[in-house]
Amino acid sequence: MKEKNKFEFETEAIRTQLERTQFLEHSTPMYLTSSFVFDDAEDMRASFAEEKERNIYSRYSNPNSSEFIEKVCKMEGAEAGFAFASGMAAVFSTFAALLESGDHIISAKSIFGSTHTLFTQFFPKWNIDTSYFDINALEEVESLITNKTKVIYAESPTNPGVDILDLEALGKIAKKNGLILIVDNCFASPYLQQPIKFGADLVIHSGTKLMDGQGRVLAGITVGNAELIDKIYRFARITGPALSPFNAWVLSKSLETLGIRVDRHCSNALRLAKFLENHSKVAWVKYPFLKSHPKYELAKKQMKAGGCVVAFEVKDGLEEGKKFFDAIKLLSLSANLGDSRSIVTHPASTTHSKLTKDERESVGISDGMVRVSVGLEHIEDIIADIAQALE
Ligand SMILES: *Cc1c(COP(=O)(O)O)cnc(C)c1O
Repeated sequence: MKEKNKFEFETEAIRTQLERTQFLEHSTPMYLTSSFVFDDAEDMRASFAEEKERNIYSRYSNPNSSEFIEKVCKMEGAEAGFAFASGMAAVFSTFAALLESGDHIISAKSIFGSTHTLFTQFFPKWNIDTSYFDINALEEVESLITNKTKVIYAESPTNPGVDILDLEALGKIAKKNGLILIVDNCFASPYLQQPIKFGADLVIHSGTKLMDGQGRVLAGITVGNAELIDKIYRFARITGPALSPFNAWVLSKSLETLGIRVDRHCSNALRLAKFLENHSKVAWVKYPFLKSHPKYELAKKQMKAGGCVVAFEVKDGLEEGKKFFDAIKLLSLSANLGDSRSIVTHPASTTHSKLTKDERESVGISDGMVRVSVGLEHIEDIIADIAQALE
């Protein structure tokens, strides 16, 4: 880790690999082992004293996890990382490792539903409070800072409204005030956007989404500043949220095709967004790379393409929305995103149902809103299914 990338993104994604074993395998094997052995008493002592960098126990590290972490570090331009059993394990452990009782978080209002629930329902138990800012009013952020504030937290594009937040502006605010900026980069994937370039100290991903991209595994990862990652590692090796070696192996293989998969997700999503924009039964449609998106220019500056998620509203709200979902034939009604299979979700009754109606409206989630995670099926089939359901 930490050495400079030798190759372009796609090449690193394929060629970053553990050293070969004596069998000279081409593809990395799975290391399904809970522990590792020592040569003798001195080796054991020195390993536990961390005088050498080596695997001891898979709760701390495992070769498959290490390969996955190293790839994501290269993709994000990060110094170090730790891999978790899920995206939420990454979110929780990152905060739990870095914050003390009494500390304060400043978070964007529009964040993943479970992260919002973590901040509002669980962190107060440990006397950690959160204040929220509107992503379209970054000038609010500084007025929320207190002498207890430690972290600024945000996502871009947001879920499910695909709003875009100015990461560089937020990075400057964090730096000026000595705060840690953490960005959940799950919606973009490292292929489309690298928040560290814009001033983020840590980047979190749910590997469950575009990274695996085939709906098979749960995973999470936090990468970034090496000192912060060391604190997270100290916490995680004791509390045990580690990624399984099997899932790490799956993910590391998945990342080999991240670029070409995400290219197709994005071209399909843009085609669908343009189709919906001209449809008489659609009240509005939002996609970062549509010219009508309020932050189109910013999206183009921060991201390579618009991502896999398109949000729109069926005219006449909830009732028509329900009819739409019941008429869908090919696409899946499911809660995941970034999968090769296209998925339609109703955020108000699923992912964001734990928020009150007011909280939902303040982050732009109307009752009739539909979120489509555009997959890799042929775009004509995706459009045809949505078109027939709208009729
Ligand atoms: C899914 C998701 C998470 C949580 O990841 P899990 O792997 O489901 O635990 C966090 N943030 C965002 C933006 C997500 O979409």
